[in-house]
Amino acid sequence: MYDKNNVFAKILRGEIPCKEVYSDDNVLAFYDVAPRARVHVLVIPRGEYTDIFDFTQNAPAELQAAFWNGVRKTVEKLGLRDNFRTVANTGRGAGQSVMHFHIHIMSDERFTEDF
Ligand code: AMP
Repeated sequence: MYDKNNVFAKILRGEIPCKEVYSDDNVLAFYDVAPRARVHVLVIPRGEYTDIFDFTQNAPAELQAAFWNGVRKTVEKLGLRDNFRTVANTGRGAGQSVMHFHIHIMSDERFTEDF
């Protein structure tokens, strides 16, 4: 069940500020407030989806395509084309703390650990 008062919903409504990286009709990308990498940006769809499966099962195909296009544009705007990771924490067990689907984009000078 989507909670309209989650922090990303408030950011989308303009009730909470964010440091924007990329924005269009379908997507918003902004810097994570507590970065855990040299570059740490979040990309969210402009729609009410709690997690990756809610998004991939219930969002219209056009929005899904637009979302991944927005991820690519964000990465290119950040100049990270060949050095970034994406993470989608899913569920409380994996540490998902905001129940609005989002992708973390993270980059460091050089990733030294594989996982
Ligand atoms: P997750 O733990 O995967 O749900 O990721 C949620 C992320 O949102 C965390 O990395 C938080 O640091 C980040 N976050 C929470 N509130 C804000 C905010 N107001 N602006 C930017 N990032 C936020």
